[in-house]
Amino acid sequence: MIDLHQRVLITGGAGFIGSHLAETLLQSGYPVTIIDDLSTGKFENIEHLVHYPHFRFTIDTINNEIVMDRLASECDIIFHLAAAVGVMLIVEKPVHTIKTNIMGTEAVLKAAMRYRAKVLIASTSEVYGKGNRVPFQEDDDVVIGPTSRNRWAYAASKMVDEFLALAYHHEKGLPVVIFRLFNTVGARQTGQYGMVIPRFVQQALRNEPLTVYGDGKQSRCFLHVSDAVQAIIALANCREAVGKVFNVGATEEVSIQRLAELVLELVEEKRSKGQLPKFPLGDNDRKIVNIPYEKAYAVGFEDLARRVPNTDRINQYTGWEPKHNLNETLNDIIDFLAEKQHVENSPAG
Ligand code: UDP
Repeated sequence: MIDLHQRVLITGGAGFIGSHLAETLLQSGYPVTIIDDLSTGKFENIEHLVHYPHFRFTIDTINNEIVMDRLASECDIIFHLAAAVGVMLIVEKPVHTIKTNIMGTEAVLKAAMRYRAKVLIASTSEVYGKGNRVPFQEDDDVVIGPTSRNRWAYAASKMVDEFLALAYHHEKGLPVVIFRLFNTVGARQTGQYGMVIPRFVQQALRNEPLTVYGDGKQSRCFLHVSDAVQAIIALANCREAVGKVFNVGATEEVSIQRLAELVLELVEEKRSKGQLPKFPLGDNDRKIVNIPYEKAYAVGFEDLARRVPNTDRINQYTGWEPKHNLNETLNDIIDFLAEKQHVENSPAG
């Protein structure tokens, strides 16, 4: 385990994954500080953590050098999760994406270097680009699309982050570990930025048709957020992981069409058992609709046919493997979003 006296800093700690990581580390007794500018993170994600005596949070950007310097001086390990994420955001705000991801990571590495803090860098499966050799392995060659397509700005910016982190390790001896997150799902995730599972669940709960883009044959593997958190902590604890890149993802592959059917089945099942609050709208005949890509995304968007990780490396280094299967993962997010919707729809909500 990480030494319990180690002080932890999480950048992007009010985000979906960052807030789960903060919670797990606080529960294990670590002093945790987070920094988040609340651009996509939310205070409500961390509100339930404020009672921990060893929890501190700073609302600021990681590009504030004075603040980052102070926070780095007060910690031993940094989990760097602050980034511009989500396909919609990237397509809409490419300047913001590129600047946030590249300059932000450099600011974190520079500050860590001054105090020799270990840095765990969050990267993404997007760096595999259009890769069609599935499952994706950490050392695979990659092909990304042209610079005229905004979508690839995200992959390219995260690749630069990885290069930079590895350069700090090789050239300056900074201990860094990179983890590439594949599709991750769980409580506190919303469909706001286009992620498919919260969108499908919200649609099913409101009796709206589920919007499958394209023919629905494209596939993904969805990891429960608590498994992602365990993977990140396992990597932080693994001395041999330093200077290396790891995939973090589930290996159970599902087509998006089947995913939509599964969400409907699970919601129906919970409804029939009376486990879901009633939603006042009537039944909808068309349970699933197929939306052509041209309507779903901006012109020129290219969807990935399959996104599947090879997780042998993390398994060999740390013994990590996911504990939740797809049904459990879906049931958890259905419960979370049903409760949220119930609160929002209740007279006092
Ligand atoms: N998707 C869909 N309907 C939606 C949102 C997404 O069919 O309402 C599809 C999307 O085109 C992609 C898959 O679901 O093929 C996963 O999308 P997401 O944005 O969650 O993850 P990513 O594409 O980044 O892996």
